[in-house]
Amino acid sequence: MTHFPHLLAPLDLGFTTLKNRVLMGSMHTGLEERGDWDRVAEFYAARARGGAGLIVTGGMAPNPEGGVFPGAAGLFTPEDITNQRRVTDRVHDAGGKIAMQILHAGRYAYGPDCVSSSAIKSPISPFPPKELSDAEILSQIDDFAIAAARAREAGYDGVEIMGSEGYFLNQFLVRHVNKRTDRWGGDYENRMRLPLEVVRAVRKAVGDDFIVIYRLSMIDFVPDGSTFDEVITLAQEMEKAGVTIINSGVGWHEARIPTIATSVPRAGFAWVTQKLMGKVGIPIVTSNRINTPEVAEGLLSNGGADMVSMARPFLADADFVNKAATGRAAEIAPCIACNQGCLDHIFSGKISTCLVNPRAGFETELQITPTATPKRIAIVGAGPAGLSAAITAAERGHKVVLFDAADQVGGQLNMAKRIPGKEEFYGLVDWYATMLDQLGVEQRLGAKAGVDDLADFDEVVIATGVSPRDPDIQGGDGANVLSYIDVLRNGAKVGARVAIIGAGGIGFDMAEFLTTDHSLTQDPAAWRREWGVGDPAEIRGGLAPEGPQPQAPVRQVTLLQRKAERPGKRLGKTTGWIHRAGLKMKNVQMLSGVNYERIDSDGLHVSFGEARENAQLVAVDTIVMCAGQVVNRTLADDLAAAGISCHVIGGADVAAELDAKRAIDQGVRLAAEI
Ligand code: FAD
Ligand code: NAP
Ligand code: SF4
Repeated sequence: MTHFPHLLAPLDLGFTTLKNRVLMGSMHTGLEERGDWDRVAEFYAARARGGAGLIVTGGMAPNPEGGVFPGAAGLFTPEDITNQRRVTDRVHDAGGKIAMQILHAGRYAYGPDCVSSSAIKSPISPFPPKELSDAEILSQIDDFAIAAARAREAGYDGVEIMGSEGYFLNQFLVRHVNKRTDRWGGDYENRMRLPLEVVRAVRKAVGDDFIVIYRLSMIDFVPDGSTFDEVITLAQEMEKAGVTIINSGVGWHEARIPTIATSVPRAGFAWVTQKLMGKVGIPIVTSNRINTPEVAEGLLSNGGADMVSMARPFLADADFVNKAATGRAAEIAPCIACNQGCLDHIFSGKISTCLVNPRAGFETELQITPTATPKRIAIVGAGPAGLSAAITAAERGHKVVLFDAADQVGGQLNMAKRIPGKEEFYGLVDWYATMLDQLGVEQRLGAKAGVDDLADFDEVVIATGVSPRDPDIQGGDGANVLSYIDVLRNGAKVGARVAIIGAGGIGFDMAEFLTTDHSLTQDPAAWRREWGVGDPAEIRGGLAPEGPQPQAPVRQVTLLQRKAERPGKRLGKTTGWIHRAGLKMKNVQMLSGVNYERIDSDGLHVSFGEARENAQLVAVDTIVMCAGQVVNRTLADDLAAAGISCHVIGGADVAAELDAKRAIDQGVRLAAEI
């Protein structure tokens, strides 16, 4: 039987053939700038070995002013070309094809030398761009062509010209930024002149037998953005100018509509790309929130696109395509679209990796090799720390026994998955369960493990996680007080008016859970209404004229914290704004700088600031504690007392700033060495 026949069908481009319809989308990894080219090469080669039909690299600047930040990588010197040759050679040796993305950031470049169509600062950068003169625009076009020619010299199979997401070329296309009155501004013919001239110059520089992808913004989500007629016109002109493939871009970076976060419905923007099908004669790629072969196959088989772009799924699992092709789709480690290991890292100046797969970007450093001395290993706790340790150790050839007091694996992930918009966690728990079975890990579930259970093992790993912190508030033992575990695991009844104590990740999730009675992520039409997504065929830029139309909250929620800072300030760098905006739409009241004075049957009594002023009653029926967590290491202490040594990982090791990313990383790293 052929698995995923549409996804795995070859794509004939005339002068070359792609082995399947999977494009690994461009991602900035941060590796290129560190100059460790062996590591860069292995990162891409692993994805080529894993079966990706065509890989697109992270963005390379065509010139210094176009770099996303000062010092961004590009093909500027002969040495750069030699270095990147190592990457392309390794990808080709692995049977893959690779295109280099040329990314000119325009006014998104995070530096004082940035340039654009007009001197209008973007809302997401402190640097106002310089407006380019006519001669300077011509020089930028030359730089694109030179970069493309050098990419060919470096052995690439093609280039992708980044024309979407609000970057330089996009900044010429729409009046939102382009206020020019010369031949590069004004009507659409003038505004699309630059992208077209760039493509013509690139095609001339690289010849006919070289892949040129143009990433075209299908829906801008900015005022005065493109209409869909303009999108079609641009795509048709691009085809005439020599583009081989059109890839989809969704939303400018400054847009306030989520486009790739986990709460975005799967394939939530494929409908936009589909509108372009049949309008051009070249292949069209669809993109955004596609993370399983089933979803990808469905899109292709329904005529939604000719190819599917997936980027983050290749961080979660380099072998995505091979597993899909060999009947092992259930073994694909799922990208849960959390951004925690990838985009949040990049925006913090760290190397991009993956919450689910700590080896991503660390392929040369973190090796999982067969063990020469198989051991019997006991792992207590089947949360992400214990699960990742168990499957890694078993993969290496150890005999693993996994204990958990609960009757299912997953630990706290089983609470995370119940939050509306975090359904991807179901897939993560299922994946771990599949891998435990696949690797023969013995599971002893449904009973707490004690010292006696652990006496006969070569190694013992304690991954018993955390317990909720009791914030010790007067009246905190009242019948109207619940913990997040009571609510999310035990289904405790919650009143119509609720105060949540603690505005960390769990407090925010709890507010989402309590204000919503059905997940919009599972209801794409309702999700689009909630965020104000319109049809670009009807309204410029796809911004619904009536704006966001949020559903009414099902409870009245107040979210509180003691810190005086803005609630949610410490949430994920690239997703915090979505959580804050989402709760604002649900009228969640947020209070900072509070002191918790007492709880009684009227609700929660608070005061503000060091002077404990402005005493106030938050009149609620239920108070839910989300006040952080403390280590649960009783078992580790008992083992120490019994003279049995053990390794302690995850929340049981350190509770502060614990998340699934750290838990998984610790589990994998320990098991790689044990
Ligand atoms: P846990 O997940 O707590 O697992 C510990 C396990 O040990 C439990 O299954 C427990 O039953 C078992 N155990 C304890 N004692 C014993 C014993 N004596 N014998 C047998 N078994 C025992 N993190 C993120 O990174 N991103 C998120 O989006 C995110 N969302 C979250 C949303 C919610 C609602 C919650 C509650 C948490 C969320 N987290 C998130 C946090 C994340 O789930 C935790 O950081 C992570 O689960 C900690 O992993 P762990 O393996 O150390 O412990
Ligand atoms: P957290 O993020 O550390 O938040 C704990 C909250 O409790 C804070 O708001 C803190 O604020 C408050 N608090 C701490 N001590 C308190 C006390 N003694 N009395 C009253 N309030 C107290 O922890 P969490 O929300 O429990 O989340 C646990 C982990 O899971 C976190 O590391 C988080 O990153 C992760 N998680 C991540 C996501 C995600 O979407 N990425 C979602 C959920 C959870 P004040 O001290 O200001 O009051
Ligand atoms: Fe996907 Fe999260 Fe991994 Fe990024 S860190 S690749 S979003 S699972």
